[in-house]
Amino acid sequence: MKIPLSNVHLTPAAYQNVYDALARNWISGTGDYVTQFERALAVQVSRQHAIAVSNGTVALEVALKALGIGPGDEVIVPALTFVAPAAAVRSVGAKPILVDVTEESWTLDCEKLQQHLTLATAAVIAVDLLGHPADYEWLKIAMLLPYDVEIPIIEDAAEAHGAIYFRDIRRIVGSIGRVSTFSFHANKTITTGEGGAITTDLPGLAARIRLIANHGMTHERPYYHEVVGTNARMTNLTAAIGTAQVAAWDDLVMMRNQVARKYDERLVDLFDNTELYRRPVASWATEACWLYTVAHPNREPIINALRAKGIDSRAIWPALCDLQLYRESCRGDYPVARKISREAFWLPTWAGMPDSDIDFICEVLYEAIQQPIHE
Ligand SMILES: *Cc1c(COP(=O)(O)O)cnc(C)c1O
Repeated sequence: MKIPLSNVHLTPAAYQNVYDALARNWISGTGDYVTQFERALAVQVSRQHAIAVSNGTVALEVALKALGIGPGDEVIVPALTFVAPAAAVRSVGAKPILVDVTEESWTLDCEKLQQHLTLATAAVIAVDLLGHPADYEWLKIAMLLPYDVEIPIIEDAAEAHGAIYFRDIRRIVGSIGRVSTFSFHANKTITTGEGGAITTDLPGLAARIRLIANHGMTHERPYYHEVVGTNARMTNLTAAIGTAQVAAWDDLVMMRNQVARKYDERLVDLFDNTELYRRPVASWATEACWLYTVAHPNREPIINALRAKGIDSRAIWPALCDLQLYRESCRGDYPVARKISREAFWLPTWAGMPDSDIDFICEVLYEAIQQPIHE
């Protein structure tokens, strides 16, 4: 492909930090870059605690375990998301229950969610989908009503570094749920190659997360394992990259948003005059574009036209309700998630993407959409 879907933007500090960690032989899951990275991340997303882990999926698994979620529990998961939240629920032995998303924000539909709360509901994983926060105020209200017990919200912020939620409160994503998780996979806005983190304001929960992520063992009493843990640590080498990425956080978020603005400008005629539409942004949110997402009722020929020109455009994930593996997680129908999963697709997006690439992609889009399409 001439134009990849995604690309990594590293600052010189990343190279220096990695070299420094290597030169000092600090390459495992303990080291000063891990500490530095965790502190910087906590400050960046306005949290008391951040725990670095090996990836965003493990972050979800550890968060679920730390909240005591396991067999017999149900966890609400949006029907439209990358699979990780649903898989994490299954991997701790609990049952994901799929809930549809809204047309307004493509995130959890709080009214529909309410119909699927049961006495077994132990948590909700709200995904800040494609750079857009979920509707947390509504979520809290919807969840309090039926049983008057507070069900914890796990915020999966893997795709939304830097997005802002402002309905009654103004909060950056990663600071909103009882616990929030991040991914720093190579295609994410802030990246360490592979990597993840868990953030929270609760000291007890943070300690439990550390315990689980580090073999169920504390520094105070090595080899006296209090709980069954795992090794979910991030390496100091990875955190060396992460420290540099967090230092460039605002720039990296802004640079992707600039790419989105440019796509918006160039595609306005198609949005106004054809069936092509953009991923919506709700009035109560500021998007931090991750992958620029558009949709069209007849998407396949458009994607094929882009790919034929060497542009790595891709269809969004299938709705989880359409995967055989999650059949038992379905409750009723999922019209919105299904529609989006049939129509949406991604255009190449990364920080510092050249204007000429955006121009070329938009030209191909105009051609593909305005010409009569033969499949
Ligand atoms: C990428 C992603 C993850 C998982 O992150 P990894 O670091 O790849 O394990 C989790 N949730 C969502 C919504 C994601 O997009």
